[in-house]
This record gives sequence, C-alpha cells and structure tokens, in this order.
Amino acid sequence: MVPAELDAQRRAPAKLCLKRGEERRLIAGHPWVFSNEVDTERTPLAAFAPGDLATVQSGRDRFLGHAYVNPHALICARILSRDARQPIGAELLGHRLSVALALRERLAAAAYYRLAFGESDGLPGLVLDRYGELVVGQIATAGMEALKPAVEAAVRKVLAPAALYWKNDSAARELEHLPRLAQAAFGEVPEHVEVLEADARFAAPLAGGQKTGWFYDQSANRARLRRYLPRGARVLDVFSYVGAWAVAALRAGAGAATCVDSSQEALEYASRNAQANGHRIETLRADAFDALQALHERGERFDVVILDPPAFIKRKKDIPRGQAAYRKLNQLAVSLIERDGVLVSCSCSYHLAESELLAAVQSAARHHERFVQVLELGGQSPDHPVHPAIPETRYLKALFCRVTRD
Ligand code: SAH
Repeated sequence: MVPAELDAQRRAPAKLCLKRGEERRLIAGHPWVFSNEVDTERTPLAAFAPGDLATVQSGRDRFLGHAYVNPHALICARILSRDARQPIGAELLGHRLSVALALRERLAAAAYYRLAFGESDGLPGLVLDRYGELVVGQIATAGMEALKPAVEAAVRKVLAPAALYWKNDSAARELEHLPRLAQAAFGEVPEHVEVLEADARFAAPLAGGQKTGWFYDQSANRARLRRYLPRGARVLDVFSYVGAWAVAALRAGAGAATCVDSSQEALEYASRNAQANGHRIETLRADAFDALQALHERGERFDVVILDPPAFIKRKKDIPRGQAAYRKLNQLAVSLIERDGVLVSCSCSYHLAESELLAAVQSAARHHERFVQVLELGGQSPDHPVHPAIPETRYLKALFCRVTRD
C-alpha cells in the first residue's frame, strides 16, 4: 500500500516552465503555450506524453495555470484552469459545462445549440453540439482525448442526455497525431440529427454529414435575413447543404427558393426539410461555380442570393487561391441579382479578413456596374462566443448587402 500522501505526490502534475519573459501572453489571458516558449533545459518536453497534465510556470516560478500537454504539437500546452486550487479533472469539466449551459439556456428557447465552443468556453479542444436528447462531440487535441472519460462523466452529470456520440473525424486531429474515428460513448445514436431552429424542424445526416450535422454558427444570420427579405422574393441558396437558409427564407415570406449543392444526399435532406415545414424547393446538384455560370447564361435572376461556401482557406498558404475563389464566387452571384436585390456573402475562413470579403463584394459590384450597400456585418451566433484574446475564435463573417443599379 502506498501512503495516501505519497500517492498524491506521485500523481501531482509535473511542471512546465517557460523561458523568461514568455509569460506575458498567458498573463494577458491567452491559454496556449508554444513549444519554443518552454524552458526545455529545466523542463524537457520529451519528458511528457501526449495528454499529460502539467502546471505551467513562468521563468520566475509564478504559477500560470493548469494545462494539458502535447510534446509533439506546436501548441504544446493549453491552459484549462488559472486557479491553483482547481486542477484539471471531472469536477472542473463539470463546472465549465454548467457555466456554458447557463449561457445557452439564456440564449435559446429549446435544447438545440452549440453547448461548448472550445477555448471560448474554457474547454480547449472540445466542441459539443446539442440536439435535444443527443449530444454530438468533437475532440481536436490529445489533451482533451485523454480527458474523454472525464468529459463523458461531466456530460452525464450536467445534461444527462439519452446519447453522446463522438464524431472525431476532423482533419485537425492529424496535427495532434490522433486517429479519425466516430463512435457512440453511450446511448443509441440515430442516423440523422433533428434540429429545431426558429420554430422550423430540420433533419440532417449525422455520420456522413458536415461537422456535427448542423451549422449552429449561422442561426443568428438566418434570423437576420428576415429583415432584408423582399416579400415573395426569389431566393438562391448556394452551398445549401440541407437547406437551412432556403427554408428560413421561405418561412419568412420568400416566394420560391432554389438550393445548389454538390452533394445529392444534402439536397435530398433539403427537399425533405422544405416539405416538413410546408414548403417546396428546387434543387440543383452541381459545382456551385458552374451552376452560377449556367444560371447567368440562361438569364435567370434572383431577389436574394446567399453564398455560404465551405472554408476555401484552411491554411495561410491557401490565402491567394482562396481569395481568388471568393472573388470569383461573389462576381458570379452579383450577376444573378435583380435590379434591387440582396446578397448575403459569407465566409467561415478565419484567414479571410472581413476587409477582404468586403473587397470581394465591392469588386464584384464594379465588374457588373452595380452599387452595393452593406446593411449589416454578421458574425457567428452567440453560442459560438469569441474569446477576445484568441483571434481564431472569430472566424465567421456574413455580409448583408443591398445590390442596386449603379
Ligand atoms: N449553408 C449551409 C452550410 C454549407 S456547408 C448551412 O447553413 O447549413 C458547405 C456545403 O457546400 C456542403 O453541403 C458541401 O456539400 C457543399 N459544397 C462544397 N463544395 C462545393 C462546390 N464546389 N459546389 C457546390 N457545393 C459544394
């Protein structure tokens, strides 16, 4: 038997010491430690296994936080707690989840929202989306992966959902040398998720779907659209996925909507979703760029065009090519807009600055001798809060523009 005291000592987390002067960003509130900031002579990173816990200390031995470590990643540690008496474990995770839940319950009337948004909720590497009795999670780091049993316990305690499904299939996991796999933690997992958004009912594919199934980050923008929608408008929903924007527009008084997507499965869901809400949509399965070009050549016009593409810029090196794609897309869209119409131009690429998206819209307008007025600059819904110290947590832009003749 090991005396309790000794056992506790043995399990006390190791120290991770920073070089002198490297603590400033952390003290200012940022939770990440980069590997070149560590004093590896005092505390070699090689002594850590991926997912180990540590206390992060400044070069002068000031306690900075409790963190998890991945010695192989560029971001080698992420802080979860800045309270020396609050170590990382099921209790802390439960506390973080309760605080996250309190916000979402204030925001939403029904249990459909992003419950946890990583660093912005003090839970680095963890995303949880709630679909009523089903929670779908995504883990992006080795440290959070090691905490998975504690997360599962915290989810059971705070929410007690019928099922929790890990959809750990994102490419980001490879940066942390984590396998891509999806599996149920507990409960029965359905084939598709059901969502209630602004009183409309939707279904979206789960295992084969995008992200966790639904894009909660756009829900506030879909609500915003109502205000700018001309009565009886003809709407084109480009990169529609399961038709969330199109159905929202029809419910808000649009006269007709067409969904464009390259995925047949997504479009089948879109038709079903329109029907389930008492509407009809047209679908067009095609590459969006080709479809917009073809519609233009046929002389088709729309009162509202929504562009909600996947991230064209995933890494810095994609910036030039991505910018060109956003420009081209906006140019094609503007060519389809009626005399006095609306363009909703979105980008979920963190690396595309809002100013660059504005420039893409403006140059598209000039190209077609049109005049643009930006009515509103939308961002992600408040269940995806922005961490003011971490620019990467503010990634979504949605420009609501009126487009008229010059
Ligand atoms: N607007 C959706 C989310 C879009 S996700 C919503 O609010 O829920 C991006 C979608 O773009 C996916 O459904 C994907 O199938 C589709 N897509 C990706 N590349 C495409 C392309 N080149 N042409 C058409 N659709 C594309």
